[in-house]
Amino acid sequence: MHDIIIALDGYSGCGKSSTAKEVAKALGYTYLDSGAMYRAATLYFIRNQIDVQNTQAIDRALNNIDIHFYRNKETLRNETYLNGENVEEEIRKMEVSEHVSAVSAIPEVRRKMVKQQRTLGAGRRVVMDGRDIGSHVFPEAELKIFMKADLAVRAQRRKKELEEKGVEVKLEEIERNLAERDRIDTSRAQSPLVKVEDAIEIDTTNLSFSEQVNKIIKLAKELIRK
Ligand code: C5P
Repeated sequence: MHDIIIALDGYSGCGKSSTAKEVAKALGYTYLDSGAMYRAATLYFIRNQIDVQNTQAIDRALNNIDIHFYRNKETLRNETYLNGENVEEEIRKMEVSEHVSAVSAIPEVRRKMVKQQRTLGAGRRVVMDGRDIGSHVFPEAELKIFMKADLAVRAQRRKKELEEKGVEVKLEEIERNLAERDRIDTSRAQSPLVKVEDAIEIDTTNLSFSEQVNKIIKLAKELIRK
């Protein structure tokens, strides 16, 4: 038996987080949501009106940002805490989605997040989803998945997900946000979203949720058994 690291990267709204959660559950692994960390940092930037061009203000902000995950005793899911406050719900809101890629493109922000992600994953047995996990955070990950899906399908799925949480957002607005985040995430200077050579690509446009989950579990089990 081998303890492995599973890196799940890809475009926004492909279902990476929900897939990663299920894969982790099936394998008895820990799920780590790297996007939640960038979202929590972004929430701090929004609340404190940090100018993303001002290096000094960014450094000061980063010194005051403490992000942790704690398990909710009822749902057994990890929730995101910013300086001791549970921000799990707030970081999923549209306002954060609209600013998160700009904040994530700041090199100092990435350095801090990556350092913590590497510490969190040091014990292996993790499924981490994000944009640069297989390319930069854990280039040594045994299983790297690169997920993609048609933009229209991604937007529909995200709309349904938000509706289930009681949040109404126009389809066009979601589509615009996903496309804009993809644009910034793939074109930023530092560790942009790329499909690395050793990643396995999964296009989820025509896959059901359980199909995509089972595909990854099968690949992982083959590596764990080796
Ligand atoms: O995964 P999620 O959609 O919640 O991520 C939000 C944003 O955080 C992404 O659009 C991207 O800008 C940023 N991100 C990143 N690197 C990661 C994870 C997320 O730049 N590893």
